Amino acid sequence: MQPSTPDLLTMLTELIATPSVSCTAAHWDQSNLSVIGKLETWLSGLGFKTEVMPVPGYPGKANLIATLGSGPGGLVLSGHTDTVPFNAELWNSDPFKLTEKNARFYGLGTCDMKGFFAIAIEAARQFVDKPLQQPLIILATADEESSMSGARALAEAGRPKARYAVIGEPTGMRPIYMHKGIMMEQVRVKGRSGHSSNPSLGASALDAMHSVLGELISFRKELQRDYQNSDFAVSVPTLNLGCIHGGDNPNRICGACELEYDLRPLPGMSAENLREAISKRLQPLQQQFGVEIITEPLFPGLPAFHNDKHSELVTTAEKLTGHQAEAVAFGTEAPFLQELGMDTIVMGPGSIDQAHQPDEYLAFDQIKPTVAVLEQLIARYCFSS
Ligand SMILES: [Zn+2]
Repeated sequence: MQPSTPDLLTMLTELIATPSVSCTAAHWDQSNLSVIGKLETWLSGLGFKTEVMPVPGYPGKANLIATLGSGPGGLVLSGHTDTVPFNAELWNSDPFKLTEKNARFYGLGTCDMKGFFAIAIEAARQFVDKPLQQPLIILATADEESSMSGARALAEAGRPKARYAVIGEPTGMRPIYMHKGIMMEQVRVKGRSGHSSNPSLGASALDAMHSVLGELISFRKELQRDYQNSDFAVSVPTLNLGCIHGGDNPNRICGACELEYDLRPLPGMSAENLREAISKRLQPLQQQFGVEIITEPLFPGLPAFHNDKHSELVTTAEKLTGHQAEAVAFGTEAPFLQELGMDTIVMGPGSIDQAHQPDEYLAFDQIKPTVAVLEQLIARYCFSS
């Protein structure tokens, strides 16, 4: 016999105590294998078939696919194993020590979203002795908070396959059927430095960048005129000019300038078309200012997610939770699971307001109702063929 799987509180304590920060800054980035290892032990203890899938090109990172039962349909309960970086000095407790206070569990990853694994396993536990007609799959991914490399690798591998998927990001158990995409892009202007007393001695990257900014702001206006979706709190696509670096001295013509911006497309807007439209607009400035303009994505981008508002899973989740399906502003792995052909929603315990913050917590009163809803979803999708 396998060692018995610990209770919910022990699982939560151990998950929080196991650091798994993912970050594009190398000094923060950590492996997620210890979290994957714990989940694998607990789930195989319950009779799940487990498969650790290393993420190609990302050493020390892996996804876990744990499957109970078999069949062509079934349900995926999915979460990410990583957390964001943290500022320990701003916390009132140790971020890696599960701390009970004010009817809440405090700790890094309690709501975003290691807590969901403990809850999903608790729900699954009720079914281990019953013969499932369709599989229950618990999916644990790597690097959601940085590159989404885990979910991308799954989409590439075409796995896992099931009919329905719930991603347990913190939504206060409101079913989410739609979110915007995320693009982060860079514009580099290469000019030529020279003495400031004579403009013809160089080509000012800053002058050119001034026009680049103007073009991007006009483009934003056009996008917001042409695309709207009133289901979102911010109903238009956004384009934020995030940071700019260039030049060194007042008396030198600026030789190089870089800009980074973030663009949040609505469902139906393609990143490729947006990139093309932007570089087309910036192209003429090269000749005008005698500079080179290079546009590049900072990461591959996250597509927008849009499920049918009346899909089987959306409707069922609405009934079970008493909440109407909503759209949210944050990005998730949902587009990648949807790409695998699953009816997908985002729905989990806790609030996004507490995610990525010091003193992140999961309120006690979120736990039992979540276990109950997940049990009902498992009963519905893994027991009827
Ligand atoms: Zn998350």
